[in-house]
Amino acid sequence: MRGVVLHAPRDVRVEQRDDPTIVEPTDALIRLSATCVCGSDLWPYRGADPVTRPSPMGHEYAGIVTEVGTGVTTIRPGQFVIGSFFASDNTCEICRAGYQTSCIHRVGIGGLGAQAEYLRVPLADGTLVATPDVPSDDLIPGFLAASDVLGTGWFAAVAADVRPGRTVAVVGDGAVGLLGVLAARQLGAERIIAMSRHEPRQKLALEFGATDIVTERGDEGVARIKDLTGGLGAHSVIEAVGTQQSMMQAIHATRPGGHVGFVGVTHDVALPGDELFFSHVHLHGGPAPVRRFLPELIDLIWHRRIDPGKVFDLELPLDDAAEGYRAMDERRAIKTLLRP
Ligand SMILES: [Zn+2]
Repeated sequence: MRGVVLHAPRDVRVEQRDDPTIVEPTDALIRLSATCVCGSDLWPYRGADPVTRPSPMGHEYAGIVTEVGTGVTTIRPGQFVIGSFFASDNTCEICRAGYQTSCIHRVGIGGLGAQAEYLRVPLADGTLVATPDVPSDDLIPGFLAASDVLGTGWFAAVAADVRPGRTVAVVGDGAVGLLGVLAARQLGAERIIAMSRHEPRQKLALEFGATDIVTERGDEGVARIKDLTGGLGAHSVIEAVGTQQSMMQAIHATRPGGHVGFVGVTHDVALPGDELFFSHVHLHGGPAPVRRFLPELIDLIWHRRIDPGKVFDLELPLDDAAEGYRAMDERRAIKTLLRP
């Protein structure tokens, strides 16, 4: 099969890889209907994470089951399924508490390479969620978004304790931040302030439910949030970048007693204890347990109540993956969908 392999920073190749096979009896094989490039794929692409050997890429996936192992009982060939970037058994105590990305048996999908024609999914019964039927083609981008960016934005909103009547600020205008806006709207937030200085992203944020746009960053951005909230700060702040600046911006934009939901993969973030101590904010985040939210998200997409697939503003054949990475790196695209 063909699959994306990162050989070195900025060296993305689509090459022949071995077809995956059933390894464990709990595995399933899927034929990908679509896959995509994640903002977090840009860390190794830019050399911020080391690339020591050729690495298969991709951890977002939706597609048709082609084969299951002898231990798989609920997932069947022919089903259209979505899973998250960590496979999980969905039965251990951590999974049952809703933290499937910390499952005691978790397996990272990233190492298996979902930017490809086929994918082996471990722990299929726990990991995969099937749609009621094979969806029409126009719904596929939405289901693919549920695999990571929608589920991650949703978790960020839940971790930030978004609820009806609340004011929410969103730091980061990538796909996760934008879908954090959508999640905040669905969870009943009254006011949603998107922080973005890019016009196409501002437009999408407004379509997803943002009520205000703040273009300033850092301390100036925090001052604008304070202006908009009677000097108090937002009740809930979603942090969807992962840098020192974005994290401090999120903490400073939150009112005392408020909540920060942080889902940007942190890179060299160090929190000053004294500022944290006096901020009086709740911090919760980490790799989003997307699996917790998949049944609800799939239902919303299936019934066309939400359209998270709008975050894909570039669609390319898998063979053009290198251009998909370039477009996201140069911020010409919010998110690239790849069709195998
Ligand atoms: Zn588990």
